[in-house]
Amino acid sequence: MNMFTCSKSYSDIPFAHRQPHHSGQCSFIHGHNWSFRFTFGCQELDESGFVVDFSNLRFIRDWLMENLDHAFLHNLDDAVSQKMVDQFREAFRPYPLESCSAEGIAQHVFHSIEPLLKEHHGERVFLVALEVCEDDKNAAKYRKVPSSSGGPSG
Ligand SMILES: [Zn+2]
Repeated sequence: MNMFTCSKSYSDIPFAHRQPHHSGQCSFIHGHNWSFRFTFGCQELDESGFVVDFSNLRFIRDWLMENLDHAFLHNLDDAVSQKMVDQFREAFRPYPLESCSAEGIAQHVFHSIEPLLKEHHGERVFLVALEVCEDDKNAAKYRKVPSSSGGPSG
């Protein structure tokens, strides 16, 4: 299968996290300016010759701002963070998820945006990958594994 792709980035969204199982400094609450680079794919372009019209992606920015901007991301099983959030509720915009590593965030946001993309743009366009960057140093990517039956390689 051949396909077109295009990418759209959302940068400098600040939020905090902590990784309770990390043996080093990452177990302390700290923040980053995060960036999200979405890659979209399709086999047939729209009437403008686009994979997806960037002016109709407002819902992605809205989702990121409503859920992650200035939030505190913590793992669902992180009892210490949960206790802190419960006790000092006014100091946190909590966002619990399975894993708040960059990889875990990429997976979570990918699966949160995927149904919204379908809702706004139908079946023609699909989400291929999401790269999440902590500041401008570290990045993790979550992507669809190409189907083995004649799908694209790589
Ligand atoms: Zn971090």
